[in-house]
Amino acid sequence: ATDPGGSPREAATHCPYCALQCGMTLRETGGRVEVLPRDFPTNRGGLCQKGWTAADLLDHPDRLTTPLVRDAGTGQLRPASWAEAMERIVGGVRAVQDRHGRDAVAVFGGGGLTNEKAYALGKFARVALRTRHIDYNGRWCMSSAAAAGNRAFGVDRGLPFPLADLGRARTLLMVGANPAETMPPLMRHVADQQAAGGTLIVVDPRATATARQADLHLQPVPGTDLALANALLHIALTEGYVDRAYVAERTTGFDEVRRTVAGYWPAEVERLTGVPVADLETTARALATAGGAIILTARGAEQHAKGVDTVTAFINLALALGLPGRPGSGYGCLTGQGNGQGGREHGQKADQLPGYRSITDPAARAHVAGVWGVDADELPGPGVPAYQLLDSLGTPAGPKALLVFGSNPVVSAPRAARVEGRLRGLDLLVVADLVRSETAELADVVLPTAQWAEEDGTMTNLEGRVLRRRAVRTPPPGVRTDLAIIADLADRLGAKAGFGDDPAEVFGELRRASAGGVADYAGVSYDRIEAAGGVFWPCPDADAPDTPRLFADAFPTPDGRARFRAVDHRPAAEEVCPDYPLRLTTGRVLAQYQSGAQTRRVAALRRAAPGAFVELHPDLAARLGVGDGEEVRVTSRRGELRAPARLTPTIRPDTVFAPFHWGGAARANSVTNDAVDPISGMPEFKICAVRVERAQA
Ligand code: SF4
Repeated sequence: ATDPGGSPREAATHCPYCALQCGMTLRETGGRVEVLPRDFPTNRGGLCQKGWTAADLLDHPDRLTTPLVRDAGTGQLRPASWAEAMERIVGGVRAVQDRHGRDAVAVFGGGGLTNEKAYALGKFARVALRTRHIDYNGRWCMSSAAAAGNRAFGVDRGLPFPLADLGRARTLLMVGANPAETMPPLMRHVADQQAAGGTLIVVDPRATATARQADLHLQPVPGTDLALANALLHIALTEGYVDRAYVAERTTGFDEVRRTVAGYWPAEVERLTGVPVADLETTARALATAGGAIILTARGAEQHAKGVDTVTAFINLALALGLPGRPGSGYGCLTGQGNGQGGREHGQKADQLPGYRSITDPAARAHVAGVWGVDADELPGPGVPAYQLLDSLGTPAGPKALLVFGSNPVVSAPRAARVEGRLRGLDLLVVADLVRSETAELADVVLPTAQWAEEDGTMTNLEGRVLRRRAVRTPPPGVRTDLAIIADLADRLGAKAGFGDDPAEVFGELRRASAGGVADYAGVSYDRIEAAGGVFWPCPDADAPDTPRLFADAFPTPDGRARFRAVDHRPAAEEVCPDYPLRLTTGRVLAQYQSGAQTRRVAALRRAAPGAFVELHPDLAARLGVGDGEEVRVTSRRGELRAPARLTPTIRPDTVFAPFHWGGAARANSVTNDAVDPISGMPEFKICAVRVERAQA
């Protein structure tokens, strides 16, 4: 890949990690890749620690450069040729499908895969394996906001406006979002907003880095955000802040919401949430009277068994105040994973075909089948959401084989010990990854994949802006791209449709498959992204403008109006009791990312965040007799985690916090609850009942 003269090669690309997709330039000299920040509208020249160190994995000693297969004699993973690994997979898939039927093989994808890969994986499942079972870890990221957005607006685009609009909002309400740690460069937009005299209000049970920058911090009991939102709307109604003209002209269903929120008396909601009435009133007034307000939710509000309804309650509030579709105003969701947005638009989700089409819609099936050159009747129907899929593995009715691309569910799944057991019970587990992740360690076959700096493609960031990922060097010998792996497997399985390994060609097919869908990429091309820096979907026409802002004139619903929906508070799936008297909530830290399979291997990030911990309020710690740094055991009905206590007054005394980036004894998801939202399938990562005690030697 290096210029023969040894002079540097450069590629303008984006960070491999989160949905902010910060702009960066990769400079390759003599095989060594250096990251330089690049000015882009989302990051404006900034990078966080993860972005700065992203290239450290390219030549990391843990990197896989040869396939591994599990040796029948020793039971250990051993190096193998690609031919042996692929034949092992094809033989295993055929044996399972011959014995148990096509749906006995499942595919599990990831929200970090490029659009091209997500598209190819969905097509591979439906056309090469002909299984209905495909879903992905994005189900655990923002499926609740996606479902609520679809229900209210008729479309799911994380931010329906450019991120720069945050700087123009007079009031910014962030609910369960901590971008100061999860995506620090985003805070440049918040700094603009505050410097211009705007108000930042944060809702979070912890005084996070973001909450500490806020003008007002509401610190509710975990699991009570929905009631809090309904109380804010109650106050808006009582004080006459509802935008009646907007509600009448642009929405339906408000009367039922009005009747529902009438019962959310602020004093009662204070008792439930712990948030003082005065703070509720200040918040409602700031949102209603500022002359431009944005309400943002993230995982804190969404990762609940009532996540869809919680997001809906905040959307109801935004609609009642007439915010969506106005400049510097609206509702949005802060997507987490790098391609969390694009990853759910192109067929990787159990119920969707490319273009965000429903897999049960006959017209959508006919269109996509036409692009794929197969009969629509041959396409399988919908599968099941991620956790339901993983929890069915190896059971009499569930899949017996699983192919995993870009995911590490042994660490990231809720009730992870149970999921680990399911994976161990499979006839065939295949994992395509960069390193031997905790999930790869259980696999029968591990396939080494290329990294972000070694392949082209597109990502769709949290704004719905399609971006180019560019290669600066070729993968090391022995490593293949996911697209090449998928194409080879499809070929060996005798798939009727063709599968290419050239990202540009795959993207061309994706454009045709998405044409006419909600997420229409027909007018997006590599050249156009090149020229503009990024293209916002929907973009159906190569000669027409793209769509940075949605909802200015109408909502993409049959009648053009947004839909209110009345929602009521209900308790968490698991509330505290004498045996488990505390609430556990989980989340991220600045220097680690998701399951940590990548970032835990980067020395600088390991120094910054060397291990898991359990945050306890000092009053609680005193009651439990736990000192700072002392190891504690956190036990729920499903399992336990052990990690050092970190005492901090920034957390509620009735709540404990653990980051979820680590496996082994410190795995937070050993404890979390697998109750899921009935609409989105989102597990309740953000609250479960636990007890905490000093770990005995
Ligand atoms: Fe990468 Fe996100 Fe950090 Fe930006 S904020 S450098 S996209 S991890």
